Amino acid sequence: MPFHILETESKSILSPVSGFILEAGFTHSLTPARNCTFGCTYCYVPTMRFQGGLKKEDWTHWGQFTTVKRNAPELLAKALRPDQVIYCSPLTDPYQPAEAEAELMPGILEAVAAKPPAVFTIQTRGPLILRDLDLIRKVAARTSLRVGFSITTDRDDVRKVFEPHCAPIDERWRTVQLLCGAGIDVSVTLAPILPCNPEILVSRALATTKGPIVADPFHVRAVKRNGATTREPAHGICRHHGWERWLDPDYHQEVLQDMKQIANSAGREFGWGPAGFGFLARPGANAGTSRKHAESDIVGAVFP
Ligand code: SF4
Repeated sequence: MPFHILETESKSILSPVSGFILEAGFTHSLTPARNCTFGCTYCYVPTMRFQGGLKKEDWTHWGQFTTVKRNAPELLAKALRPDQVIYCSPLTDPYQPAEAEAELMPGILEAVAAKPPAVFTIQTRGPLILRDLDLIRKVAARTSLRVGFSITTDRDDVRKVFEPHCAPIDERWRTVQLLCGAGIDVSVTLAPILPCNPEILVSRALATTKGPIVADPFHVRAVKRNGATTREPAHGICRHHGWERWLDPDYHQEVLQDMKQIANSAGREFGWGPAGFGFLARPGANAGTSRKHAESDIVGAVFP
């Protein structure tokens, strides 16, 4: 999909968190760009509209462009503190396709390495992260750095339908393997869980990584009355392919419990909701963080 890259000078780069992210143990979020050129059909960021810090053209043209915060490294150098537990990013993928050209993350990682917070978590699905492996290792040597790497299904035909601009599933597993091989602390995030064989998916996560496994089903209105929710195109895809049960909260619970049992039997942690997401924030939760300056209440929107 063709996309445009726009640039802006942001006023701030670290946002005190609230809701789900705070509950999980993070103190701040770092969003390097507005809009995400992966453009996933289920992404719930555009459903947050202004609450997600978006402008109207972002949610009406989701994935078609992104606006990078060009001064992010300079802002970060001033804003970093040793007690922060930072999640990057709840509102875009830091290694979205546009990042190959924008090259914002190297400056961000240099800033983090120079003034390390307590925890720095990168949430992505982009193999492009390997471009910055040396910098990531540099940060990991100075603080608690984690990568949450999203793998959503074991079926590439499903991936092509829901997230055609994301890398093939095998390439994502290879990326996880390379990160782990480089000594990086990686948690696979099965988020959102797309139609799949749950046993195969969780078993591969167990075989490939050592860390806890985090999962997140589709966010449907039946269980999520307010805030971010799964985008309509994903509902249409489920209806078209006869995959409606993957939108059913009761079925979600069945799948999650089955996966948890397999993981726990292997002696591994498996979680969802704030408890699961909290695996990515350990250690260093800062319960004293003020909520009053929160940029937006990103309840439930952690794996966009
Ligand atoms: S789900 Fe994540 S990767 Fe996909 S469009 Fe949304 S922010 Fe980007």
